[in-house]
Amino acid sequence: MTLLQAENISVRFGGFIAVDKVSLRVEAGERVGLIGPNGAGKSTVFAALSGFEPVGGGKVTFNGEDVSGIGPATRARKGLGRTFQIPREFAHLTVRENLLASAPDQAGESLIHLFLSPGNVQRQERRLKQKADEILSFLNLSVVANELALRLSGGQKKLLELGRVLMIDPRLILLDEPFAGVNPVLIDEISLRICDLSKRGVAVLIVEHNLNALSKLVGRLYAMDRGRILSQGTPKEVLENKIVREAYMGGVV
Ligand code: ADP
Ligand code: MG
Repeated sequence: MTLLQAENISVRFGGFIAVDKVSLRVEAGERVGLIGPNGAGKSTVFAALSGFEPVGGGKVTFNGEDVSGIGPATRARKGLGRTFQIPREFAHLTVRENLLASAPDQAGESLIHLFLSPGNVQRQERRLKQKADEILSFLNLSVVANELALRLSGGQKKLLELGRVLMIDPRLILLDEPFAGVNPVLIDEISLRICDLSKRGVAVLIVEHNLNALSKLVGRLYAMDRGRILSQGTPKEVLENKIVREAYMGGVV
């Protein structure tokens, strides 16, 4: 089943076309990569897919529904989550609190809920805490659950970023450079967790410069440059493509 489909999506910044009629699709539970040199438009594609940037043309369909005109919070509630190239953790909250702060629709935030059904709020908080602890355990972050996020290593921050998006029960996660600044041991760890997720039916679309680690992880790749898709196929097919190699600094991929 096709979970995410982008058809000819474009994003403009003023007169500059950062994303130019890009089409791609991700099947349920599939692991797919998106590569391209710096400035190619990868993060902007993510912004358009997740609703942070409006598309200036084309259509994004998620789970059979046209979500092109829907904002990021609503897309997230529908199961379309994303991480950011620069992790956006709350530095002065603990790791567990970071997860709790990412849960959608917290009843406790509404005063009305608090007055009318305090028991409900408490039950929901307990459930969320349990969910956060399960996610921390899944990501091997339980030992740092009570540490301030600012104390985490770069790799642990990437895991926390993944943990935060897992709080929304995503069906698809857009991962922006999950391996950037991460040591090789943690890269393997993050890769394993991504595989675990897709085995549970969670699809991932991954932007990543570490082509070696990415190729081992995904079944299909899209390559883009200057806002356009250059090539798509298996990692081998795409990485051997002449146009793709030329886009990457004259063929030194
Ligand atoms: P990538 O993630 O592939 O490195 P980006 O999607 O971040 O590339 O950027 C694509 C192009 O769009 C770049 O030329 C970048 O400078 C430009 N760009 C990205 N975001 C903005 C913005 N908010 N305003 C203006 N230009 C932007
Ligand atoms: Mg980027």
